[in-house]
Amino acid sequence: MGVVSTRTPEGEPVDCPICGDQAVVEPSTFPTSDAPCPRCGSLLWVSAAPSRPNIDAFRAIEQIMADLEAVHRRRAAKVR
Ligand SMILES: [Zn+2]
Repeated sequence: MGVVSTRTPEGEPVDCPICGDQAVVEPSTFPTSDAPCPRCGSLLWVSAAPSRPNIDAFRAIEQIMADLEAVHRRRAAKVR
């Protein structure tokens, strides 16, 4: 064990918000990246490395929100 890497093939380092422990967990990848804390057992959300489809979905949601905002602004402008 000479090389220290932030991400190992064994799992993802996650800070547990419940017990404050930093655990290296092997998250499930579908449908969400989560894993139980090995110390207190609470569910941890692993957001460090979202899979490609998740990033695409997030960008699609951002686009929808931007479109809704644009529509809302246009409607507000018409009222005036
Ligand atoms: Zn914990």
